[in-house]
Amino acid sequence: MQELKNKKAAVVVFSGGQDSTTCLFWAKKRYETVIALSFDYQQKHIKELECAKSICKKYGIEHHIMDMSLLNQLAPNSLTRADIPVDENAPAQGTPNTFVDGRNHLFLSYAAVFAKQRGISDIITGVSQSDFSGYPDCRDIFIKSLNTTLSLAMDYQFDIITPLMWLDKKETWALADELGVLDIIRNETLTCYNGVIGDGCGNCPSCKLRKKGLDAYLASKKDN
Ligand code: ZN
Repeated sequence: MQELKNKKAAVVVFSGGQDSTTCLFWAKKRYETVIALSFDYQQKHIKELECAKSICKKYGIEHHIMDMSLLNQLAPNSLTRADIPVDENAPAQGTPNTFVDGRNHLFLSYAAVFAKQRGISDIITGVSQSDFSGYPDCRDIFIKSLNTTLSLAMDYQFDIITPLMWLDKKETWALADELGVLDIIRNETLTCYNGVIGDGCGNCPSCKLRKKGLDAYLASKKDN
């Protein structure tokens, strides 16, 4: 394995949503240099990328947007096609129709190639097993497996770091508050499947999950 890695820098896989933005600020506290990577897979809500861009610009973070249009061609999905509506409820079996096959796998793989070119080993992603919404590529076992695969693939020791892995949405809001960025996360990020910034449309599964966590966190804060 190669040495001489830069542990003072990290690459954050960054969508402009609640989780990855929380990770971005988490990383900013811990690393001298943070580089955000976003992926353009022609997602229905291009606003997602605009959110990502404006957050990085505003808070002075180096930002790159990678072209991943191939993923759109390969995996038509309710997040990439206007004519496929988002299912309101999770299916009894299988993955929800908001799941994009291979998305985290590919994003993390490209992030690893990028990181190695810069001599960086730490790659941060906002996946969480606690609220994983049936997405297999948010699970800890997948991340550990991919970490091993990428290190072997490039003969280079990567560290995929997942600050939110065991946090539910309420705890993720608590972390944002601890980092002093609760209002930024609440007002400037986009998690909504219908493309509404901040508190969102309120009706899609993603908004419901986000709101439930926020309400629970704000209620617990009041009690203390
Ligand atoms: Zn929504």
